[in-house]
Amino acid sequence: MSFENYKYVVVGSGFFGAVVAERLAYDFGKPVLVLEKRNHVGGNCHSVDHAETGIHYHIYGTHIFHTSDREVWEYINKFTDFNGYHHQVLTTHRDKVYQMPINLETINSYYGLNLRPFEVSTFIAEEVGKTGITNPRNFEEKAVSMVGRPLYEAFIKGYTTKQWGCPPDQLPATLLQRLPFRTSYDENYFFDPWQGIPLLGYSSIFDKLLNNPKIRVELNTDFFSIQHELAGDACVVYTGPLDKLFDYRHGHLEWRSLSFEEEVLDVQDYQGTSVMNYADENVPYTRIHEPRHLHPEKDYTESQTLTIKEYSRQGSSDDPYYPVGGDRNRAILEKYLIDVSRNNNLFVGGRLGDYKYYDMDQTIAVALRTYKQIRDRTQNEPKPR
Ligand code: FAD
Ligand code: UDP
Repeated sequence: MSFENYKYVVVGSGFFGAVVAERLAYDFGKPVLVLEKRNHVGGNCHSVDHAETGIHYHIYGTHIFHTSDREVWEYINKFTDFNGYHHQVLTTHRDKVYQMPINLETINSYYGLNLRPFEVSTFIAEEVGKTGITNPRNFEEKAVSMVGRPLYEAFIKGYTTKQWGCPPDQLPATLLQRLPFRTSYDENYFFDPWQGIPLLGYSSIFDKLLNNPKIRVELNTDFFSIQHELAGDACVVYTGPLDKLFDYRHGHLEWRSLSFEEEVLDVQDYQGTSVMNYADENVPYTRIHEPRHLHPEKDYTESQTLTIKEYSRQGSSDDPYYPVGGDRNRAILEKYLIDVSRNNNLFVGGRLGDYKYYDMDQTIAVALRTYKQIRDRTQNEPKPR
């Protein structure tokens, strides 16, 4: 079948595109063409066995599945089982390891105290009181008004400056909503009741999502190179960077990008945990991943381990990882969203399409909703006489 026969075209095979394609094919019974410019499906969740060590890892950074959304949890469980992994993060500050997110252990260890949970709020309130900030207007002020200046300087300032490439007082306060703060010894990074790592890796989920005779996947195929070959009335679901779709006519959205440095070490366990953050600005990387810890159920007997250093850098729509956000980008985004709303056959979504810092479960939730919109819009179209 040539490209022009497809009435449903999905651009991108990350969670957003793969879920919409799966629903269109399985639930709606429509043939779907999935275009993917990379040489693999799965977007940034792609996972493989490391060639040298056999350790399963996520090549675009560690991905922990976590959700409080029952519909998403039930949906994803049709395609995979999860192991019982619960995410815990540690952070290194001046060569000492602390728990992250900041919790009672972090506070006691940093200050050399033995506070009880019921004493923490008074202690932190005194620290915050010293800052004099009552109406936080940016990331730095928000963080300082949550934990006080010393904890902010130790665990948040340097990491955030490296991650976003600018001083935290130039970042939106909303970014901090992702970072929990606890007054107990709870060291879970996420609050969600359901979490884990897919037993056979993320790639096996994508293989199952897209394994349908009605779905045709074209790898190494950039939508912009073959756009002219598609049917003029095809319904296009676009999950790439939004500014690129409109040839940047309202300006470029800002993206943050990452680089990864893999290393095989001759020890069985390098850091004792899957993710170690590095809080200090003079350490050039933000975190080190050690993927063997993501699969405690696997019997990795090798005497070597794989570590991956993560570096943050300025990005572009050619290698986008994180939407930067903020007022300037929001103003540009709104103009593109008006363009999208003017085209009845165009649906845009995902981390890049919506320019939103979605986790996987949020991406899937919006994809499921978008599928229903596509189905309803198509069903309500007047039938030709
Ligand atoms: P993507 O996965 O980016 O997929 C978009 C796809 O579209 C890509 O495959 C791309 O190649 C393709 N594409 C783009 N343009 C074109 C084009 N012109 N033609 C054809 N194909 C195109 N979430 C969690 O829940 N837990 C985590 O622990 C977690 N960790 C993360 C760590 C990092 C470093 C990052 C960056 C993200 C993390 N996330 C995590 C978020 C998660 O990656 C996203 O929610 C999810 O991948 C978004 O899926 P998507 O389909 O929107 O985008
Ligand atoms: N953050 C921090 N110190 C840390 C971890 C996170 O200051 O040790 C801040 C940082 O600004 C980061 C934000 O909290 O961008 C969100 O952290 P998260 O772990 O959710 O980042 P992600 O895994 O999405 O990169």
